[in-house]
Amino acid sequence: MKSKHRILAFGCHPDDVEILCAGTLSLLAKRGCEIHIAVMAGGDVGSPTLPRFVIREQRLQEAQASADIIGARFHFAGGEDLEVEYNDAYRRRAVRVMREVNPTIVFTHPPMDYLIDHEETSRLVRNAAFIGPVPNYDCGAAVLTASKIPYLYYANAVARKDIFGRPLPLTCAVNVSTVMKTKTRMLACHASQREWLRVVLKEDNYLEMMKRASEAEGRAAGFPFAEGFIQHLGAGHPQDNILKQLLGDACREFDGGNVSKATK
Ligand SMILES: [Zn+2]
Repeated sequence: MKSKHRILAFGCHPDDVEILCAGTLSLLAKRGCEIHIAVMAGGDVGSPTLPRFVIREQRLQEAQASADIIGARFHFAGGEDLEVEYNDAYRRRAVRVMREVNPTIVFTHPPMDYLIDHEETSRLVRNAAFIGPVPNYDCGAAVLTASKIPYLYYANAVARKDIFGRPLPLTCAVNVSTVMKTKTRMLACHASQREWLRVVLKEDNYLEMMKRASEAEGRAAGFPFAEGFIQHLGAGHPQDNILKQLLGDACREFDGGNVSKATK
């Protein structure tokens, strides 16, 4: 059954979407939603040895291979690692992708995360979701305006805490236990990042890292493995939780945020 929903998961770097919400995307794909994965930057500093243009090409191919696993379309917004900032050029890039996809549901990073690139992507995607339908905003490309302001969800922060060490007030968590194999296969497409994370984080197995994070998210929600989300409820955006409607029992809603649960 084909769903009418187009989903855009708009992350900063190649592999962010896989770590934060690939399980949920896989579940939504199974329910007939049309899935799009976008990255703001091409991953061009993600290597201790390769030149920027070489590692970027490799990482975009890895991202495409990952998207192929769930039949998603991949988009590269054209930005550069560690240079993402809220400015005119990046705003136009973000809106271009938003209008190309014209999504009903958008996922991105939360407004506060460990890396400024992620926070700036969050602001850019948030604003692109809001101004995508504004006809007089010119993003410099011959694409139609988006039809309406979409549902917007922030994935949980990396390591599930803000920069002050506090848990974020999640709206809901999605049980991804049945699709952990798919999530792992998608992340495994980003093979170049194993070497990078070994150097930067002294972490040898990034697949295990993702599994541990999904397990920890699951503990707060009562699922073996989960992904957490915060719904953006600013004026203009839809206010009902469409993830609950689409995913049913696989989506557990938290009353007033799960801060107390997550800190246990
Ligand atoms: Zn990232």
